[in-house]
Amino acid sequence: MHVYADNASARHVNTVAGIEAPERYPAALAGVHLAANEGLPVEWRTCEPPPESFLAAVHELAYLRELQEVSAAGGGYLSADTGLNAHSWEAAARASGAAVGAVESALSGAPGFAAARPPGHHAGADYGMGFCLLNHAAVAAGHARSRGAERVAVLDWDVHHGNGTQDIFYADGRVLYLSVHQSPFYPGTGAAREVGEGAGRGLTANVPLPRGAGEEDYAAVFAGLFFPILREFRPEVLLVSAGYDAHAGDPIGGMRLEAESFGRFAAAVTALAREVDAAPPAFVLEGGYDLAALSESVAATLRGVCKQARPEWEYRGGNRAVEASRRALAPFWRSLR
Ligand SMILES: [Zn+2]
Repeated sequence: MHVYADNASARHVNTVAGIEAPERYPAALAGVHLAANEGLPVEWRTCEPPPESFLAAVHELAYLRELQEVSAAGGGYLSADTGLNAHSWEAAARASGAAVGAVESALSGAPGFAAARPPGHHAGADYGMGFCLLNHAAVAAGHARSRGAERVAVLDWDVHHGNGTQDIFYADGRVLYLSVHQSPFYPGTGAAREVGEGAGRGLTANVPLPRGAGEEDYAAVFAGLFFPILREFRPEVLLVSAGYDAHAGDPIGGMRLEAESFGRFAAAVTALAREVDAAPPAFVLEGGYDLAALSESVAATLRGVCKQARPEWEYRGGNRAVEASRRALAPFWRSLR
């Protein structure tokens, strides 16, 4: 397991939303240390800001310039919840570099984990919002394509819908975006009927779950929708937007997951990647705002990847949210009919 981290993550301060705090970075690293101290094979990797062309593959150049200028001027804000200080550009660029590194690891046969902040999945081609400046998972997916991958999947289990990732790839025929999230909730997107457009029709899969959902609901989402689609799509590279704000202890999210739930998700995703001959998964840290829950959930994820058996989930129908999403996507996927 290659873990990508850089101390620039601790220097970005969201000047208008303190909950996405610099302390999240050492908390995530503490989770990695916890796993390493148990004997899991963790290799630390540094991360550089990627070449501008990597970022420009998913973001508008004018938007990248704006971020750089606001940072260089000492800070400012993009929206009511997304502020920058003088270090924000460097932190965000290195966090994208961490995600690119995790994809490089995956392509070399080792699972990767990008332990960096700020998060990314709410950032679109020309906008930042929801604590996010650059969309690291999207940058990493773009990088995987430039390295020759024809089919890339991004599975997003953050409690929020990754509207930025969805937007960036909505009409893209080579990137599958799968999201399970709390609804109704910020940012308001991610309905089951949002399935992509043009060449990307059928390649966006959303499962909005009601507040209070637990691991049994997520297991139904994975077994009843995500995994059948992934088995048909057969991605070569599988990215996970790994947010931990669906943990029961999270102050923002309203779900009931435990740290070990994320371990089982990670084990299931790792086994699925092996089954479809994809590279090992590359994880990109997104949200997660209770520091203890974040540490424990990151440790559980690493355990899940490295040593846990695949959970035995079977979908037998009956989950309303999963059924609605299956109906919306059935025209595009044989296994859902
Ligand atoms: Zn989130």
